[in-house]
Amino acid sequence: MEILLIVLAVIAVLIIITAIRAAKFVPEKKERPEMPEEKVDFERVQKNLSKAIQCKTVSHDDPSLTDWSEFEKFHAFLEEAYPMIHKNLKKEVISAASLVFRWEGKNPELEPMALLAHQDVVPVTAGTEGDWKHDPFEGHNDGEYIWGRGTVDMKNHLICVMEAVETLLEEGFQPERDVYLCFGHNEEVVCANDPGASAIVETLKSRGIRLDSVLDEGGAIISLDMKGIIKTNILAIGMAEKGYCDFKITVTDKGGHSSQAPDHNGLGKLANTILDIENNQFKIKLLPFIYTLLERVGKTASFPARMIMCNYKLFGPLLKFLGKRIPFLACLVRTVTAVTMCEGSPAPNVLPQRASTTVNFRPIFGETSKDVEAHLRKVIRYKDAEIECLRAKEPSRFSPTDSRAFNAIETVAGSMFTDKAVAVVPYLVMGGTDAYFYEAISENVLRFAPFNLSVELIATSHGTNERCPIAVLKDGVAFFKSYIRQVSKES
Ligand SMILES: [Zn+2]
Repeated sequence: MEILLIVLAVIAVLIIITAIRAAKFVPEKKERPEMPEEKVDFERVQKNLSKAIQCKTVSHDDPSLTDWSEFEKFHAFLEEAYPMIHKNLKKEVISAASLVFRWEGKNPELEPMALLAHQDVVPVTAGTEGDWKHDPFEGHNDGEYIWGRGTVDMKNHLICVMEAVETLLEEGFQPERDVYLCFGHNEEVVCANDPGASAIVETLKSRGIRLDSVLDEGGAIISLDMKGIIKTNILAIGMAEKGYCDFKITVTDKGGHSSQAPDHNGLGKLANTILDIENNQFKIKLLPFIYTLLERVGKTASFPARMIMCNYKLFGPLLKFLGKRIPFLACLVRTVTAVTMCEGSPAPNVLPQRASTTVNFRPIFGETSKDVEAHLRKVIRYKDAEIECLRAKEPSRFSPTDSRAFNAIETVAGSMFTDKAVAVVPYLVMGGTDAYFYEAISENVLRFAPFNLSVELIATSHGTNERCPIAVLKDGVAFFKSYIRQVSKES
């Protein structure tokens, strides 16, 4: 009886302690300065996004397949649509079709800031054209959405940046520091041989330019609404991106005529190789950003949920457990392995002499393509297997979360949601962005798109019926105007 009472008392004390901790587990009270209402030409931004979509700026792995006249058409459209920018900013075409605009600031001593976007889009998958409700290159505006390839990834972003600068110029604004607008032409080509973004960075570097900050696509606004648990807007700011590498693994065998085949041939060996790779996944790594993310999102949850979330530091083992089972989580916490291609013999009646598989890896911060290769050599049972790295891009580093640019996103985007809870969280970008190359000339490389899109709409990028609600374009232009005002200031 006495023991039971002691146990109950201990439980009661633990509950009280947790309740007190949960009560204190709330977002820091930050002074959110009132953002002045920004003027936005709502008609014009819609019209210009539609026109931008009509330029078929599709990039290809093989640049000879690219229709460069569409990029020329796009450049001509920008020139016509944004006369103030073309009159006041210095424009350069770099590499095949990348664009750089330089807006001179009042104080040449200050490091310039940069806004990035890519002009190119992915093709529409052959055979799916008929599934589109509106032609993907018509830029159809139905009064609610603008439809077409690039409306989400990322001509919406590019056009909102241009609208913001054009409007600021019309209002007579001049930044303190230089503002660069850098628009690459082949971001969608994975590990391109001649990335436009890299050519831009090399040009700026050769002029001795270092950038105060860079803002590109990659982060997002996600509205989370789980009844009774959490209702908040998550502003996910991409602080880093994962690496990319493809490895081709080849095993060899005797080959011969299929009429005299042994029980197992080269493809059987390849199957074993694939099992070795899939059964030996990379270890889960809980990088510090995961804890910051849990803490900041957790603090905006309801009180009962906070009783659990305030113990986020104990979540490590749970995340490791879940990370192994849920692909969506796994990609945030480890180097992801995807066996994607296989090759055997050249004919149905020929035993393979060489059988190969191609595996795509997305290394996480702290691991490189060299580590991937060492891992493969360790786990594949056939020590004579040939392992060849086809292409590799190492993971980026993490940008700090205390820069002026980061704070500006927090203040400006946060002010879009005055009546609702907001959690500004650091995030790891799964895919690649042009921002990657800018690490060479900037400490603060941030990835964030100021558009509040549903998960369903985000999923239309690279897919069918890609479309952007016109309502978010207003917020987009206002965001970039305020962001430029904030970050271009001296301090
Ligand atoms: Zn993109």
